[in-house]
Amino acid sequence: MDINLTFSQISDAANEAYQYARQQKGGANANYIPYLANIDSGLFGLSVMLPDGRSVNVGDTGYRFGIESVSKVPTAILCMRQTSPQTILQKIGADATGLPFNSIFAILLENDHPSTPLVNAGAISACSMVQPAGDADAKWKAITDNITDLCGSAPVLIDELYKSESDTNFNNRAITWLLKNYGRIYDDPAMSLDLYTRQCSLGITTEQLAVMAATIAAGGVNPLTGKRVFDSGIAPKITTLIATVGFYQHSGDWLYTSGIPAKSGVGGGVLGVLPGVLGIAAFAPPLDAAGNSVKAQAAILRFMEILGLGIMNGDRVTVAADK
Ligand code: GLN
Repeated sequence: MDINLTFSQISDAANEAYQYARQQKGGANANYIPYLANIDSGLFGLSVMLPDGRSVNVGDTGYRFGIESVSKVPTAILCMRQTSPQTILQKIGADATGLPFNSIFAILLENDHPSTPLVNAGAISACSMVQPAGDADAKWKAITDNITDLCGSAPVLIDELYKSESDTNFNNRAITWLLKNYGRIYDDPAMSLDLYTRQCSLGITTEQLAVMAATIAAGGVNPLTGKRVFDSGIAPKITTLIATVGFYQHSGDWLYTSGIPAKSGVGGGVLGVLPGVLGIAAFAPPLDAAGNSVKAQAAILRFMEILGLGIMNGDRVTVAADK
């Protein structure tokens, strides 16, 4: 079926979804990272961007929050850019774990494989793969330049969050050394973990994340800058990873219900990609038990429902140009 939307329908849906989700109670800020526990839990923003650059922003869309696990998406893209999607499959994997994001058990179950670059193990492994090997500063520059390219503007490190995470990331230290033992850390282990911790501590806004999401939806061309950031062949690969494990052990339920591949972070951010149609991002700190933002999920789900969209629907979706 053909679905022909106007931009004002998209804008109205975003506003209605925002108002609906604002009423959703429940959840709690991540409490295992001290900085995140203290963020104002009333903050809430929703941003949508189309591949042609038109955008809608509702609420606290300029607030800079911790990107956390959403950072796993751009760094996976970077590794695919620097090697190939096939290399990522071989060195890290592309399997859903069905387990929490920080699971050590998942590493053991997957025959010592990190499973996917979108859980902690695979993301630390991905940071170890970033080129140029052995040079922490140059690797960090590659990671942040890539995010800047995807967002059309730079992320800013939240020093306090970085310190907070570095002081408390004992589980991730265990994951790193376990992976090292299995030959899945491709550079210095301490450096790889530090790069991962730092990328999680980057401050980002929903406006920036919506541009990143729209760049993926547009097959690698940033709608804001017009720059081709990555090869179009990478778009379906990263979207597959997002669809299979973006919400960790709730990924199946989420895709089944919402119809949009999305990736969450414990900072309260969610990035959603509807290929060829739009990118969406939401942020609100209170999380459900799996670490996914309650209001961000509600907003994106409602937005999809109002417009009758879904990646599996088989519809050809167009948005009319403004008159
Ligand atoms: N920095 C966090 C961690 O490694 C990210 C987790 C997340 O956002 N799910 O625990």
